[in-house]
Amino acid sequence: MTPMKWFFGFLKKYKKQMIFGLILTTFITALNIVNPYISGLIVDNVILGEAYDLLLPLIACMLGVVVLRGVMRFLYQVVFETASQGLLYDMRDKVYRKLLQEDFNFYNKKRTGDLMSRQTGDMEAIRHFVAYVIYISYESILLFGFALSMVFTVNVKLALCMLVVLPFTAFTTYLQSKEVKPAFQRNRNCFSSLNAFVQENISGNRVVRAFSKEDYETEKFNKENDAFRSAQIAASRVWMKYLPVFEILAYALNIILMLYGGFMVIHGEISLGNLVTVNGYLWMLNNPLRMAGWLVNDIGNFVTSVEKIHATYSEEPYVKTPPSGVVKKLNGQIEFRDVSYKADDEDIVMDINFKVSPGQTVGIIGSTGSGKSTVMNLLCRFYDATSGQVLVDNTDVRDMDLYNLRDNIGMAMQEVFLFSDTVEGNIAYGRPDCSFEEVKKAAIMADANHFIMAMPEGYDTIVGERGVGLSGGQKQRISLARALLKEPSILILDDTTSAVDMETESYIQKQLKNIEKNCTIFIIAYRISSIKDADLILVMDKGRIIEQGTHESLLAQNGYYAAAFSNQYGEIPEEFLQKGGR
Ligand code: ATP
Ligand code: MG
Repeated sequence: MTPMKWFFGFLKKYKKQMIFGLILTTFITALNIVNPYISGLIVDNVILGEAYDLLLPLIACMLGVVVLRGVMRFLYQVVFETASQGLLYDMRDKVYRKLLQEDFNFYNKKRTGDLMSRQTGDMEAIRHFVAYVIYISYESILLFGFALSMVFTVNVKLALCMLVVLPFTAFTTYLQSKEVKPAFQRNRNCFSSLNAFVQENISGNRVVRAFSKEDYETEKFNKENDAFRSAQIAASRVWMKYLPVFEILAYALNIILMLYGGFMVIHGEISLGNLVTVNGYLWMLNNPLRMAGWLVNDIGNFVTSVEKIHATYSEEPYVKTPPSGVVKKLNGQIEFRDVSYKADDEDIVMDINFKVSPGQTVGIIGSTGSGKSTVMNLLCRFYDATSGQVLVDNTDVRDMDLYNLRDNIGMAMQEVFLFSDTVEGNIAYGRPDCSFEEVKKAAIMADANHFIMAMPEGYDTIVGERGVGLSGGQKQRISLARALLKEPSILILDDTTSAVDMETESYIQKQLKNIEKNCTIFIIAYRISSIKDADLILVMDKGRIIEQGTHESLLAQNGYYAAAFSNQYGEIPEEFLQKGGR
């Protein structure tokens, strides 16, 4: 679907409103003809013809027209304004829903600031088009058409003479429209880039301060700011260049009327009243010509914005829910069959094979970047395996309803994200309708209750974006409570206890053992102590599972795991460790 077709799809819903608005515009424009016509009558009949008794009715008519026009103008502005806001609401909603469906691949590549620009600046250009540009363009064409036809009724030769400007206007419009689009594309790109920069810097402002990089960032900001200013000026230059041309063409009409119209009055071809009438229509002929430059500009801006929003909207996620995917409460039986995953042709994980029965606990250990989180991402279908199969309850995850699959999984991610909300709201995120008692129970299991209670407003304390105001370990525990509260069939704890002390960790482990037996648990950790009691331990290195088994069997293998164990417990010499790891 082309971007314009996509846009008109949204406009369809407001078709009736828009047509009503355009009918009103037609009436208002037609009413514009009345007053200059009456002015002509006053000159010819009242002033020159001395029919003074006509003056009052004619003036009353003129006043009536002004009032009627005012009322109609108010009405059509309401119509266009509500239609544009409604259309924008629908479009924002649709684009936002699509953004929620996009997969990790999409978000890995996109900058938040860019996406924000689509939802703000670009949407505004579309609103402006619907609220103003459509009716002003229509009004301009009507004004010109009506006025010209009135001039034709006064005198054909004069009207034809005034038409001379039209080819010049059309040619100038064509030239401007050719220049406007690239200028606006550059402008929108620079706007996005500036937005993305500012957004990243505000999010990363703690890093900037910690490294005293304020000057460096300011310099980078100045470059972005400069680029945007230049792009703005370049875009403005386009209309600045063409506006005088439209202005000259508009004035040419005045000159034609004065010269040729005056000549015709002198030679008695038209009356003085006719000249006054045509002069009254002059602004109706002038204005559209003057507006042409602005309209071409606004239309260029609108087209660029629609194209940009549509390009973001039309990116299809690789990971999609199947049309009639399996929906059920899962038992948590998991199998990876020869699973490999490549990103941009680079092997990330290879030949992953393991089986887990419902209710078992799996520990995953391995060097940093060895693919532990990726394996879990494949299980949640944040990515799809390049080859092989990920099976949950003997069903390929690709045949399951995506939302049902994720609904059955509770995940405490490695990078904890908390929303700007209360602590309670953050914990209850997966089950907003649960009771406070349940929230508290989950917090107790995650060893979070006591520090939450010590906070100024307990569970009602608002935590900032990303959990500002909490320590790393506290954030991890809130995130753990959030995952536990879901009472999932599969619980994934990715490095969830890395920032808590040993005592807290062993408390949490005890709590996890108390979880009902039908929850399969994955624990990714660096510390052997976090996983050694697991039913199955996967040891990962360079994207592969290099060892798997229980703690005892792995120790007996005397490989990477045994080396890591001895290193952490200080028994095996360092050189043994060189066997594994990166
Ligand atoms: P850590 O212990 O540090 O969390 P990890 O074992 O969880 O590491 P992963 O996050 O799974 O490691 O990443 C494994 C490797 O794959 C890393 O080198 C990472 O840079 C790369 N990687 C992961 N996902 C992608 C992706 N979508 N595109 C490109 N590279 C990726
Ligand atoms: Mg990881």
